[in-house]
Amino acid sequence: MAKADFYETLGVGRTADEKELKSAFRKLAMKYHPDKNPGDAESEKKFKELNEAYETLKDPQERAAYDRFGHAAFEQGGMGGGGGGGFAGGGGFSDIFEDIFGEMMGGGRARRSSGGRERGADLRYNMEISLEEAYSGKTAQIRVPTAVTCDVCTGSGAKPGTQPKTCGTCQGSGRVRASQGFFSVERTCPTCHGRGQIIPDPCVKCNGQGRITEERALSVNIPSGIEDGTRIRLQGEGEAGARGGPAGDLYIFLSVKPHEFFQRDGADLYCAVPISMTTAALGGTFDVTTLDGTKSRVSVPEGTQPGKQFRLKGKGMPVLRSSQTGDLYIQIQIETPQKLTKRQRELLQEFEEISSKENNPESTGFFARMKEFFEG
Ligand SMILES: [Zn+2]
Ligand SMILES: [Zn+2]
Repeated sequence: MAKADFYETLGVGRTADEKELKSAFRKLAMKYHPDKNPGDAESEKKFKELNEAYETLKDPQERAAYDRFGHAAFEQGGMGGGGGGGFAGGGGFSDIFEDIFGEMMGGGRARRSSGGRERGADLRYNMEISLEEAYSGKTAQIRVPTAVTCDVCTGSGAKPGTQPKTCGTCQGSGRVRASQGFFSVERTCPTCHGRGQIIPDPCVKCNGQGRITEERALSVNIPSGIEDGTRIRLQGEGEAGARGGPAGDLYIFLSVKPHEFFQRDGADLYCAVPISMTTAALGGTFDVTTLDGTKSRVSVPEGTQPGKQFRLKGKGMPVLRSSQTGDLYIQIQIETPQKLTKRQRELLQEFEEISSKENNPESTGFFARMKEFFEG
């Protein structure tokens, strides 16, 4: 089933600013919030779509990716990396509910959770790939140290054969009331710390946490044409939630290493090629190896000047999720000969003596023209 356009979901134009987005999201989220429409599957679906749309568009980087590639920019499992990189620690991503509903409902949803179920933290994995890898794409195996659901207690935190018990202090609500003079104050239950449950016989392997830290192997695909700075979200591949809560997401922050010979600008590549003064003057050919491993021949005509560009069509980077390919531009640099022998010097001096104005139209008379321009 095709996914609805994020802008249409929120009912805003493609040029909507941050404020418009937020206000449109709030209005619709209030309307479709599950608390207002208990048991209505359609509203719940709509609410989820709203969240996804807003979560993407409120982040300038993700919005730019979406504008450019549509939903494909965030497809799960379709992207990924290789090369070096490493795990960079969890957390740091604001939860949409904390952002919006934290202020809207004065407290957020942590209180509504039952049995101490908490969403696992998001993880960040920094991955560095070479330009060749970005060119061809590849499948990378990564190892992510993360909290996973404990296999012994299957996440409950209770010793196998035992059950968590309803907290006797708060009767499972996670909150206790205490009277202070005229006031009745509600606070988090000190016995169960708001979870509403206690575990009389904790699982030995996870100490009752329901999760353990493990290195998890993941296989991620890097699509060819991926750009430096791309952020990929692998939904549900973050830390396991506490006591059976939903898992967080894994974000892969991708960077493409600078290349020895090619500079990238979008899908185009640039390569500076030094040629000798005589090749530039007499003309000649040379071969460049391109990222697809093949060689392309470049013909330099007689009298080529420094800075001259030659375009090798289709020899640049592939465009992500398209059949298009950028171009490779060869930028000519001319090397002046150094450490001349006596014989070479004589030849050049002789060459200079028989040179005419037509040989060097730019340099001939340059200083005279400059003097005339400024001094009249
Ligand atoms: Zn356990
Ligand atoms: Zn309690």
